Amino acid sequence: MTDSGWKLVYEGFEPAQEGLREALCTLGNGYFATRGAAEEVEADGVHYPGTYLAGGYNRLETNIAGRVVENEDLVNLPNWLPLTFRPEDGDWLNLRRVEILAYRLELDLERGVLERRMRIRDSHGRETSLVSRRLVHMGLPHVAAMEVTLCPENWSGRIEVRTALDGRVINAGVERYRQLNSKHLTALESGALDEEAIVLVVETNQSRLRIAEAARTRVLQGGDPIAVTRSVREEEGFIGQDLTFAATEGQPVTLEKVVALFTSRDRAISEPRDAAVREIGEAGSFDELLGSHVRAWRTLWDRCDVVIDGHARTQMILRLHIFHLLQTASPHTVDCDAGVPARGLHGEAYRGHIFWDELFIFPFLNFRLPEITRALLLYRYRRLPEARRLAREAGYRGAMYPWQSGSSGREESQVLHLNPRSGRWAPDNTHLQRHVSAAVAYNVWRYWQTTGDREFLSCYGAEMLVEIARFWASIASYNEDLGRYELRGVMGPDEFHDRYPWREAPGLDNNGYTNLMAAWLLRRATDAIDLLGVERRRELEGLLGLQAEEIAHWQNVSHRMRIDFVDGGIIAQFEGYDRLEELDWGAYREKYGDIHRLDRILDAEGDTVNRYKASKQADVLMLFYLFSYDELRELMSSLGYPFEPDAVRKTIDYYVPRTSDGSTLSRVVHSWVAARSDRTRSWSLLAEALESDIADVQGGTTPEGIHLGAMAGTVDLVQRGQTALEFREGTLWISPCLPTELQGLRVKLLYRGYWLCLDISCDRLTVSAPHGWAGPGRIGVRNQVHPFKAGEVLEFGCHFADGGWRPASRAPTRHDTGEAAP
Ligand code: BGC
Repeated sequence: MTDSGWKLVYEGFEPAQEGLREALCTLGNGYFATRGAAEEVEADGVHYPGTYLAGGYNRLETNIAGRVVENEDLVNLPNWLPLTFRPEDGDWLNLRRVEILAYRLELDLERGVLERRMRIRDSHGRETSLVSRRLVHMGLPHVAAMEVTLCPENWSGRIEVRTALDGRVINAGVERYRQLNSKHLTALESGALDEEAIVLVVETNQSRLRIAEAARTRVLQGGDPIAVTRSVREEEGFIGQDLTFAATEGQPVTLEKVVALFTSRDRAISEPRDAAVREIGEAGSFDELLGSHVRAWRTLWDRCDVVIDGHARTQMILRLHIFHLLQTASPHTVDCDAGVPARGLHGEAYRGHIFWDELFIFPFLNFRLPEITRALLLYRYRRLPEARRLAREAGYRGAMYPWQSGSSGREESQVLHLNPRSGRWAPDNTHLQRHVSAAVAYNVWRYWQTTGDREFLSCYGAEMLVEIARFWASIASYNEDLGRYELRGVMGPDEFHDRYPWREAPGLDNNGYTNLMAAWLLRRATDAIDLLGVERRRELEGLLGLQAEEIAHWQNVSHRMRIDFVDGGIIAQFEGYDRLEELDWGAYREKYGDIHRLDRILDAEGDTVNRYKASKQADVLMLFYLFSYDELRELMSSLGYPFEPDAVRKTIDYYVPRTSDGSTLSRVVHSWVAARSDRTRSWSLLAEALESDIADVQGGTTPEGIHLGAMAGTVDLVQRGQTALEFREGTLWISPCLPTELQGLRVKLLYRGYWLCLDISCDRLTVSAPHGWAGPGRIGVRNQVHPFKAGEVLEFGCHFADGGWRPASRAPTRHDTGEAAP
């Protein structure tokens, strides 16, 4: 693989790599996405074409391990890609049956185009070159297009082309779900519309989501249509056209396929079939569509690019991560009533469900495209009634969000999970990760802080915070002996621990992360109410039956939350953690090599990871990821607990070696928390986190879908982690601590409606807000505070001391950009 700052390139065809490449070369526009499978392939164990719609779910029941379970899947929609050919008397293109003379796959991140170039020789010695280009339109959310140019290099004769829409597909992208029912689509209608166009309509068999796809295929030479004979091929759920024409040696022929996809969830349409047919009738040529598509991407890149100097591969991977983030959640997602699936719209792992991973994804969006965060938070707001129901059913008040969310917001976590190592199905207790509700509240609060969107807070955010606060206040129980509130029977972010080895019932008590998050948000709920205008406050208090005593109770719970400690002052992952055994990490590494899924290894050995001080991912350390040192110290001291200056370092040193990084989120957190204390370690963890998907470090999970939390998290690590950018106490704080591997960083961040531009190099930090500024009027660089206003460029000289970045002089140089502040 070679790369440049904007291109992901694969040379040579490698069947074993196809799944990974398909996931990484997915094209999408936030409304739908299609894996980068080749046009001529079907799902066959090597290839897996898949198309997924934001919010496109269906539920199916399966009888498994003696019980009926129901799962909700992000449905694999009809495959619109098929476009293949065969020469006279030859076979349909199959790369495993021809000689491949040249092969190159290139994903152009800047333009959002997937290109494949190849030259093949068939068993008759006929050489053909093919260049295909594909896009999923970033400006027209319902449109995708491809262009295949084929040239008979040393032969002339008839060519037959097959173009199709294939609705016979099922959800078969994840090996360990194969025992579950997976046929979601029912064929409704298919047929040819005219000479060039075909249409297919299907419906999901439970959610009754109707999907219409229409395709228009043309054959061109030198830009003009050529004479072709056409015949229609139709089967249940499949519609195709075979086009036959004469080709001449050395003369390229271009096939152009334009597709439209609409569903019954769409707005501003009468009916999906009607809309799809109209759209392909009006769509321009491939080149015209390419032009408008590239313009749409340019607008996005202008906002979203993060430019670094000195490390070409890191630059490309960061852009790949931004690219996939924007393909999953774009301005087109705003109207979709969809959440952001942990594995993108790139595969079927975790069934397209929405977890707490938003925590890692929203900071990127907040600082660039906050309208998308707002829409994703509204996805949660609309599911507040379901979260209330979940709380009620569990015996609590307020709103308890599900660990895994899908269409309706009910709990979608599976009840049984399969250990592929042992082949055993076991109960899945991950739904006990109640901390997801804290994450929803945290996201509401950070969105509000970054955007100052008072309307959102007033109309939606405050209600969510109140209901979530109610939930935490009601799940907390008072321990008379300690005079503290406790949270019992929950799971923390670390999924290795779901119960005590000495207790039958699942769940753990007093998970440090959950307890502190709860204490924090109980205060934010009060703050949110105080921020409301008198009228709205009165309205909300009336609507929700909120009284002063209840708010006082939140304060009480929040200030008397219990935290446990281990090893003299380190926040314990949960109560009783110190009673667990130490694991012999060295022995397990030696025996198994890759031990990131230690839970499965120990289970297959007849043991359980619950017995050990061994975590899948950052748990307590999440606190240092989400809060600054000062915020945390304040929180701890208000609870009456000490938080020594070296608490952070000691906690990192304690937990990092006891973590297997079985989740890609873990390295992001570890890199972040090390950024202040150990730059070398932080960079090497960031470098590892950057490789998570591109190198499929978990050995097979990326082909099933990208890890969007880790992707977005790495970008945020560069933009905020490495710059220590923070808005606190009326000051914009920034202390760049770029690793020596990075020579420079240029990034633009949107804060309360205005852009803040940062340009960091080895010897200079330049900060400006060229078009206005509604943020703090002071900027703090390494403990020195300076006035800051719009239209001014502040330049700080700096030098590297002890391998670290230091401002060289106290006073920054000021330039006037000449642009008046509004
Ligand atoms: C992690 C969770 C995460 C989920 C989805 C799991 O492996 O343990 O923290 O939310 O993946 O990404």
